[in-house]
Formats: sequence, structure tokens, C-alpha cells
Amino acid sequence: MAGHKTHSAAGIAMAVLLAGTTAMVGSIPHAQQPLLLACGIAAGLAPDLDSDTSRPLMILKAGVGLAVVGTVLSDCLNQGLPQAEIAVRAGVAFGLVTLLFVIFTRLTVHRGIMHSVPFVGLWALLSMQATRPFGPALSLAAGLVALAAGLGHLLLDELWSIDLKGGLVPRLKSTFGTAFKFWSGSLLATFLCYAALVAMLWLHFIRP
Ligand SMILES: [Zn+2]
Repeated sequence: MAGHKTHSAAGIAMAVLLAGTTAMVGSIPHAQQPLLLACGIAAGLAPDLDSDTSRPLMILKAGVGLAVVGTVLSDCLNQGLPQAEIAVRAGVAFGLVTLLFVIFTRLTVHRGIMHSVPFVGLWALLSMQATRPFGPALSLAAGLVALAAGLGHLLLDELWSIDLKGGLVPRLKSTFGTAFKFWSGSLLATFLCYAALVAMLWLHFIRP
């Protein structure tokens, strides 16, 4: 596996390059360019969410935890609830988020379906969906940047699976072929990923 630092650096470099190019050739306003960049970075790191100890997963956990507990706290304060009840509600919210991530890490397998071409395609379509309110140009650019950044991640993982013995003789590590692939060992995960991909394609390109 390419290190997270390598992924982050390569992901950010690729996202900056693509977002910059897309913004220059397309009609993306300057104010929307950070959003495009964020889509590229997120897509470049997304496949590693399947690694239980990866930094992207830790950042996601912290972000979701803060957002959920923060929303519950502000809601409680707005209602003027007593401190004890606020503490209980915040505790329950934190417990639910923790449980959600325990289930997520149990369900995901490192180098499973999240390290695959259809998952990258699905993530790109989700990026398009998320940026749709900002107009068709940004939505399309976000999809293309996310697609390129995600595929770049998979290719980097595969490159890191090739060991150059003595700097000359290539030797394939056991991880070779587990990143840039079209299905995973789980038939159910593969089916669900393709079903979601087809649904998103329909939503974007066929639904009137
Ligand atoms: Zn990876």
C-alpha cells in the first residue's frame, strides 16, 4: 500500500492540477474552485476509507462526530433543555455515531470493493450529485476531477505493488491487482456497488 502521506501529496497535487486546468478551460467561477479542489482531494483519499486505521477514516469519524454532536447540542440549547438532558442526548448521539463506524469498519474490507474502478465511478457520480446545486459546469468538472483523482489512487496503489529488486528486476507483491480491479471477493458488495452505479447513472443521464 502506498503510504497515506504519499497518497495525500499525490492526491492534492493531482486535484490542484485538474481543478486548475478545468477552471481555466471551463466556465468555473473563481469562488467555486475551492469546492472543485475539495472534491478532487476527497475522491483521491476515498478508497482508503476501507482501511480501519487510515487517516481519511479517522478524519471522517471526527468530522461526522463533531457535526452530529454539535447539531444535537445546538438543538438542545435552542430548546432550553436542562443540562442533564443535554448531556444524555449528546451522549446518545456520540454513541450512535461510534456504533455506525463500528458497523462500517466491520462491513468494509481493506482492498475490497472500495478499491475498485466501479467504486471510483460511483464516487465521481456522487460528487456530481453533491455539486449539482452549483450548476452543470461545476457538477461535470467535479465528476471528472473526482474520477481522475480516484483512478490515480488505484494506479498508485498498483505501482507500489511492484518491487524493483536491486533496482532492476521487477517483483510483484501479494497486493498486486487488488486496487485497480472491477470486482471484489464479495459478490454482494460487487453487486451493490454496480447497482448503485447504475442507479446514479440513470439519475444523472437518463432521468428527464
Ligand atoms: Zn489505497
